[in-house]
Amino acid sequence: MLDALESQPASASVDLIKDRVATMSCKAAVKGNHKLSVSEVHALIDELMTLENPYHCPHGRPTIISMSKYEIEKKFKRIV
Ligand SMILES: [Zn+2]
Repeated sequence: MLDALESQPASASVDLIKDRVATMSCKAAVKGNHKLSVSEVHALIDELMTLENPYHCPHGRPTIISMSKYEIEKKFKRIV
């Protein structure tokens, strides 16, 4: 990451560098269909919850969603 940032022109703004770092972070993140062990899941969630804002990635996309029991029952057609 530092090597990639080193190639940025000296005139690159802080916002541009922040954007590059955010993009690199998201590209390196765990994606769908990537299997993790239970201990890896716990370690990731523990680390996530130490962040100032654990609820969104640097691009503003949610990292956590909540769903009520009612919504889950509706999705499984337990409630019509
Ligand atoms: Zn992102």
